[in-house]
Amino acid sequence: MKRAKFILPALTEATSPYWRPIKYSLFPPLGLATLAAYLDPEVEVSLQDEHVERLELDDEPDLVVIQVYITNAYRAYELADHYRARGAYVALGGLHVTSLPDEAAPHADTIFLGPGEHTFPQFLRDFANGSPQKRYASSVRTLEELLPIRRDLIQRHRYLVPNSIVVSRGCPHHCTFCYKDGFFEGGRSFYTQRVDAALSEIARLPGRHLYFLDDHLFGNPRFARELFRGMRGMGRIFQGAATVDSILRDDVVEEAARAGLRSLFVGFETLSATALQGAGKRQNLGRSYREVARRLDSLGIMINGSFVFGLDDDDRDVFQRTVDWGVSSGLTTATFHILTPYPGTALFAEMEAQNRVATRDWDLYDTRHVVYHPTSLTPEELKRGYDWAYEAFYRWSAIFKASSAHESLKHCVKHFCYSTGWKKFESAWDFVIRVKQLAQMRPMLEAILSPVKAVGPIGPIGPIGQIGR
Ligand code: SF4
Repeated sequence: MKRAKFILPALTEATSPYWRPIKYSLFPPLGLATLAAYLDPEVEVSLQDEHVERLELDDEPDLVVIQVYITNAYRAYELADHYRARGAYVALGGLHVTSLPDEAAPHADTIFLGPGEHTFPQFLRDFANGSPQKRYASSVRTLEELLPIRRDLIQRHRYLVPNSIVVSRGCPHHCTFCYKDGFFEGGRSFYTQRVDAALSEIARLPGRHLYFLDDHLFGNPRFARELFRGMRGMGRIFQGAATVDSILRDDVVEEAARAGLRSLFVGFETLSATALQGAGKRQNLGRSYREVARRLDSLGIMINGSFVFGLDDDDRDVFQRTVDWGVSSGLTTATFHILTPYPGTALFAEMEAQNRVATRDWDLYDTRHVVYHPTSLTPEELKRGYDWAYEAFYRWSAIFKASSAHESLKHCVKHFCYSTGWKKFESAWDFVIRVKQLAQMRPMLEAILSPVKAVGPIGPIGPIGQIGR
């Protein structure tokens, strides 16, 4: 093999009127760059991300590897067909291929089910021997022999956050609407890198700012604690995601704050205990969301709260209740989703059995459309309420109110800048992306994410450690 090409096709929503270019210029395709590391060094490799560049389609690679999500599936199949017609060997993998292998298989020479760190090297050996298989299903689950990611293939200037990093795979929980269980079927569904390997990866990244894209950065408390202790003194500032229970459980969040954690994506999902139960989100049950907000606020960590609308317990007031809670709790940003039964999830199986799946047009499975029959709301009410929630949460008056919900004035100012910067200056972001100057915005992001306050030395954590138990 002389030439290999890795492609991340554009998600449908990235080409719709909803498109916010900045949202799709945040992170590079790390998974593909991870797989590219397994190719022989003499193979000429290209990595194209259709969210940030126009794809070159008149080239002649020997091997094309395409990452397939649900809302880029049709585009991925189109690209796969295009390259197969040109004589390339085409491999497809990713969440959607794992969920619906029989749909993807006719468009590919080989498909990958589950994570590819072990199956892709095996495929490359088989390919070199002239005997590649039609299907590779992951069963070995370890990150022990992970090669350094081919970050040289990433066009850093096209992304606001080129330093995205993943130090684990999967998550220890089992929410019914989540892709995770289906993707990791047939083996472990949560595992981490070695701490020293993760620290080396961090040390290789230039600049200060990092974004951990792990599903649950605090999922293994021992690993997380050691990682954050190792990061102390590295001068990093970082963002990541964790669950409600892990924030209240012990001192890991404080260790993270000392290491440089400045904002956290938290899956609150719903304020209703019945809805949590129905969604299998047991880790949130009985936890005080207010305490989560208070604790993160006390550590100077901004919150991106994630919420789902359309769960079976949701009525017409759910939108107002959720927005009011988010604003009064001082959430910096909020991500709202319409409940979406992704194929391969327990939720999809349940809805299918109840005849509640309204469409299989995967382009609509972007969490902005209603693709199932809700129980307590009409589809129109759900869509309207979802749109209203975004509009209401990011009104100037709501931003002012949420910004002022913090203990420290510095935190209030940072909250205001982050929230307005993210949602109120779309045309400025578009301009910066068009003139390819996103890198110039990083110092501003780092300034906003600089510490609100010093987090004290490690000691007994006292009553805070008991919260939520
Ligand atoms: S906590 Fe998040 S990543 Fe983990 S299973 Fe639930 S939704 Fe998925």
